[in-house]
Amino acid sequence: MAGVASPTAAFPSLETALKHHFGYDRFRLGQRPVIEAVLKSQDALVIMPTGGGKSLCYQLPALLKLGVMVVVSPLIALMQDQVDSLTDNGVVATCLNSSLDYGTIRQREADLLAGNIKLLYVSPERLMSPGFFGLLEQLIKTVGVSGFAIDEAHCVSEWGHDFRPEYRQLSVLRERFPQIPVMGLTATATERVRVDIAQQLRLRDPLIQVSSFNRPNLFYEVRPKGRDGYQELRRQVKQHPGSGIIYCLSRKRVDELAQRLTEDGESVLPYHAGLSDDTRRENQTRFIRDDVRLMVATVAFGMGINKPDVRFVIHYDIPRNIEGYYQESGRAGRDGEPAHCTLYLAYGDVATAEYLISQKPDADEQRIARQQLRQMVDYAETTVCRRRVQLSYFGELDLVEGPCQQCDNCLNPPPIEDWTVEAQKFLSCVARCQERFGMAHIIDVLRGSKKQKILDLRHDQLSTHGIGKDRSVEEWRLLGRSLLHQRLVDETSDGYPVLKLNAASWQVLRKQITVEVAVPKDFAPGPAEASTIEDTTEVAQLLTVLKALRKKLADQQSVPPYVVFPESALRQMARTRPQTLEAFSQVSGVGSRKLAQYGEVFTDAIRQFCADYGLESDPGAAARRSRPVRERRQSVGDTHRQTLDLHRQGLSLQEIADQRGLKATTIASHLEQLIRQGETVEVDQLVDTDRQRTIGTVLAEMENASLTEIRDRLGSAFSYEDIRLVRAAWQMEQSP
Ligand code: ADP
Ligand code: ZN
Repeated sequence: MAGVASPTAAFPSLETALKHHFGYDRFRLGQRPVIEAVLKSQDALVIMPTGGGKSLCYQLPALLKLGVMVVVSPLIALMQDQVDSLTDNGVVATCLNSSLDYGTIRQREADLLAGNIKLLYVSPERLMSPGFFGLLEQLIKTVGVSGFAIDEAHCVSEWGHDFRPEYRQLSVLRERFPQIPVMGLTATATERVRVDIAQQLRLRDPLIQVSSFNRPNLFYEVRPKGRDGYQELRRQVKQHPGSGIIYCLSRKRVDELAQRLTEDGESVLPYHAGLSDDTRRENQTRFIRDDVRLMVATVAFGMGINKPDVRFVIHYDIPRNIEGYYQESGRAGRDGEPAHCTLYLAYGDVATAEYLISQKPDADEQRIARQQLRQMVDYAETTVCRRRVQLSYFGELDLVEGPCQQCDNCLNPPPIEDWTVEAQKFLSCVARCQERFGMAHIIDVLRGSKKQKILDLRHDQLSTHGIGKDRSVEEWRLLGRSLLHQRLVDETSDGYPVLKLNAASWQVLRKQITVEVAVPKDFAPGPAEASTIEDTTEVAQLLTVLKALRKKLADQQSVPPYVVFPESALRQMARTRPQTLEAFSQVSGVGSRKLAQYGEVFTDAIRQFCADYGLESDPGAAARRSRPVRERRQSVGDTHRQTLDLHRQGLSLQEIADQRGLKATTIASHLEQLIRQGETVEVDQLVDTDRQRTIGTVLAEMENASLTEIRDRLGSAFSYEDIRLVRAAWQMEQSP
């Protein structure tokens, strides 16, 4: 074996190794136990949601152990990006797959045997190809193999959503190389698949790490898709800065929408299985490299997309099931920064989806698909916390307590109204029509329609004809849906949806139970703009400069921008303005290699920016120094001054917001800046003292953590506003 020092001797702690190689200060939840197990050569099964940080679980051990870590991944398109990312961190990695020519493969095999490589990515086909096991045996004898990491391990399971027959053969690894530890990694949530993975890969007493599927940085909302759906979509797209994915149900709809958005001047490309391989690859690359901002896609655009800085995912058509929705929307915000997930609901789309299901040949398949669609509609119509619905679907209900404050329903609970009388009218109309008609007909009768069909059936003679003129068609539909949803009426499912009364319907008709309906208000825009945090103009401007620099450097090396630095690192730079290499190395995401490679260019740019704008390096320090010097107050803008005046009159955050016609988050960010400027702000008046204490404890523990990380720790009962205000005050106190 090649002479390498004992694994961890070079680093006093795993954290030091993490900072050195990847630039991160601390492990994410679940990473450390897995890494420790892998270092001990124990098998492991790692289940983390998308963006949870699975890769690091084998990458760091690969660097600390002797030999090569062999990573099996089905995503050939992705391998090169992963290798580039690692190379940019100074890690020697390579890949072998069917897209390479013979000479390249030979060269890479030679590099491996020379002991120059720590991570080898292979496709399952390559792994099973003739001769590959021979190479592995040679490697084991010479440089050593530190483990097999099976990425996207759910592909071994027929119960998963992405079964790949070639994954089935992976059990051979254990038989041929029983001494080499194996780990499986996946984002699949279902128990059935987990059990299957452990069996299929023949894992031996594995460490099983299951992380929560809660993604606290994602904001979830559902909006009605009315006639004006497209304009509404455009408003959304404009509201969100950064990259976004818009999912549609069919290729045709993808093409139409992409075309329309292009005509309206948006930067957009389509993606679906009807495009050639080359076009798809090209479009994907341009999206990942930020040459284009929006991707309009079918679900074919999926698993292989490793872009961590997608800021929003919009489902323009209803997805087929909740698991699919969770995975697709989960492609937003893998970097842990705030991101937005919007689902548009139109009952016409549900009808289309139902029609497509009815075309399926297999009755069982139809039944399952219909049930899944119903669950999806339930999710869209729910008036409770969306996160609760999702997590309860994955069996994680206990983890969410109270409102999450990161979904539309929590922020803006729809009012519940008593519609018992309307429900009685509706149900008695169903009875009068002899339970032989669907919702549209019932509504026509209620609203007194004189359509030919109604006249032919003599339904204009019914006592319920015209008793519902006072409500619009939309209102009746809302009620009808809600009755179905609450199982207060049934609907036949043989393709012709006919309304049928059930026992509960009769209870309503006999006035034994009341009927409550959640009536959506005009959906107010979510906190999209507000959650793009507390950036002052300078921060935003510097961020733009840094992003442009990152894009330039990325293009020079033809890698995606996030490979150079993640978004969070740029934000931190924009906020703290590090002008020396020392200060720069403190930024989370800056490891030794990145410091050497990019430290100069970035600090140059920051120094230049500060010189141009007459700014100091560390905005916090400037504010601290300025505290006694009242003149600096002039830098506080007029709008901040107005907020401060109202605050001093004793108004609460919400009262100030109402009076000024601004959002509470905006007011909070004014107050936060005022605190940092050294103004006297009564935090006690804004945040309950018990809460302040709790937040303070966490701040002390996690000194340099991002807002999102602090919020993760505190839990969703704490608002970002509270944390920001307390943090500002706390940091001012800490400074000399
Ligand atoms: P997954 O494979 O689980 O979807 P990745 O491994 O791609 O997720 O990680 C998602 C993002 O999180 C990447 O940008 C990665 O660099 C980042 N990341 C991973 N571990 C950490 C950490 N300990 N601290 C900060 N960022 C991390
Ligand atoms: Zn919620």
